[in-house]
Amino acid sequence: MKVNNLFVSPHFRLAEFQCRCCGCVQLHPELLVKLEKLRDAWGSPLLVTSGFRCEKHNKKVNGAEASLHLRGQAADIVVLEDVQEEFIEAAEKTGFNQAIPYGKRNFVHLGIFGNDERVILPVSQHKWEMAEPLHAGARV
Ligand SMILES: [Zn+2]
Ligand SMILES: [Zn+2]
Repeated sequence: MKVNNLFVSPHFRLAEFQCRCCGCVQLHPELLVKLEKLRDAWGSPLLVTSGFRCEKHNKKVNGAEASLHLRGQAADIVVLEDVQEEFIEAAEKTGFNQAIPYGKRNFVHLGIFGNDERVILPVSQHKWEMAEPLHAGARV
């Protein structure tokens, strides 16, 4: 059963971010917004090899103990070694807090610290961007 097989943004399906071992998924909206922006800036599809990881899977792949993958705030993207430098430049311009090249393994790790947990997403294909965050006292 593919319950996560829906588009959550113009270019990404939720399933692309789900844990490779159990199918659980947590996805920080800021990560998604920035991936969309980077997708447009980069001009070609971004293939996610690792998005959310449960504790068990993170251990199995020797992920850092406090890996942002555990909180849905990181994604590893397929990028060939010879263009990684260029890709990282684009990622930094997009506002990613982490952009780490893995050279010959042909992927780049992207992460956001997720300081603002209260972003609101306009779910419209015509205007896909980060909306103004709610002010601290807002009731939702
Ligand atoms: Zn898992
Ligand atoms: Zn990673």
